Amino acid sequence: MKFDIVTLFPELIDIYTKNGIIGRAVENSLFNIGYANLRDYSEDKHKKVDDYPYGGGPGMLIKPEPMFNALDAIKKDNSYIIYLSPKGSLFNQNKAKELSKKEHIVLIAGHYEGIDQRIIDRYVDEEISMGDYVLTSGELPALMLIDAVGRLLPGVLGCDESSVEESHSGSLLEYPQYTRPEKYKDMEVPEILLSGHHKNIEEWRLYKAIEITLKRRPDMIKDSSIIEKYNKLSVKYK
Ligand code: SAM
Repeated sequence: MKFDIVTLFPELIDIYTKNGIIGRAVENSLFNIGYANLRDYSEDKHKKVDDYPYGGGPGMLIKPEPMFNALDAIKKDNSYIIYLSPKGSLFNQNKAKELSKKEHIVLIAGHYEGIDQRIIDRYVDEEISMGDYVLTSGELPALMLIDAVGRLLPGVLGCDESSVEESHSGSLLEYPQYTRPEKYKDMEVPEILLSGHHKNIEEWRLYKAIEITLKRRPDMIKDSSIIEKYNKLSVKYK
């Protein structure tokens, strides 16, 4: 799989793609991340890429010409083009899974007040939002998407970094986790985790996962059997 980002700030992409789990995956060629610097595709002698919106209003918009040129240079027959936008549909784990099946994802990072609508009408397959808030540019959203999708690709997570049991992989948030030392300051690791009793540990984790989901994201629990399970486990683990 390959991701390409059309960006005004390639340096931001560089830092990210050379560090951490994603950096290691790129180094091991598990997937690739490229970028196109929008200014390189400007037809203006001053490399200008933005202009005032027709009809008035605050701020500037990215012009069609540099973006059309960049996308024509990057896209292939199998490309899926996404514009990161607060107007897009909300990103989630299911969308990350769906996108992990694509071969080539092109991400358009907007800036200023956004991009000329004709770019969206001509090229964009989907507009995706990273949350109900407005950021100054699309680089962080693009990198968030690459991170969430990239870590689902085969070989990216080692067996110690599994994505199978974590929050949003099913209908529950993840249970609390602890590492050494057993006692830190006045706080102790729950005894059950030291018991070596795998069935009880599994039950306790499920109980805690339901508890935290009920408290923080009750909307995620659609199946009433989960509540029944929780009530049963409460007797043992409350
Ligand atoms: N005027 C736009 C609006 O009201 O929808 C907001 C433009 S925003 C200041 C500049 C750029 O940041 C956008 O073009 C987009 O690429 C990116 N951006 C900002 N918030 C975002 C979000 N929640 N999700 C994805 N991209 C976002």
